[in-house]
Amino acid sequence: MAKILIVEDNALNVKLFCDLLAAHGHEPQAVTDSRQAMDAAHDFSPDLVITDIQLPHVTGLDLIKMLREDEELSDVPIMAVTAYSAQGDEERIRAAGAQAYVSKPISVMRFAQTVDDLLHAEPEGELKPDEDMAESGEATSDDDSSIDFANDSEDGPGPTEAGGEES
Ligand code: MN
Repeated sequence: MAKILIVEDNALNVKLFCDLLAAHGHEPQAVTDSRQAMDAAHDFSPDLVITDIQLPHVTGLDLIKMLREDEELSDVPIMAVTAYSAQGDEERIRAAGAQAYVSKPISVMRFAQTVDDLLHAEPEGELKPDEDMAESGEATSDDDSSIDFANDSEDGPGPTEAGGEES
């Protein structure tokens, strides 16, 4: 069981992440306002931080940099989740100090696997390739292994709904 801090402004994603992590035996804690993220991280001492990139006030990229520059938190693995995958995003996110990068919509199984990998990685372990994460929607799914996580409202055409596809 690991303590996992989630920084995500979309309440639906917060619930999905928390439910998923709890189902895997972890202890999630979430903040929806990224201005509270550093205080929460100091209080909670997470084993892993999962942060959205598109956040108001303090962006995920800035938060990653702040975590990396913090004496107590500089070694905590960071998994970035982003609705966009514009060219150069992944480079910037990794350069800021995140170990893993997952695009929405994400595969629940891949999400859980990445969390697992980060929790068990050596402190200076190599970066995990994750090209196939963005294509999770096309993966062959036995049951409900794939959920479309809600994107941020600013991203795209029309509202998105999570778990909209029931097999
Ligand atoms: Mn967001």
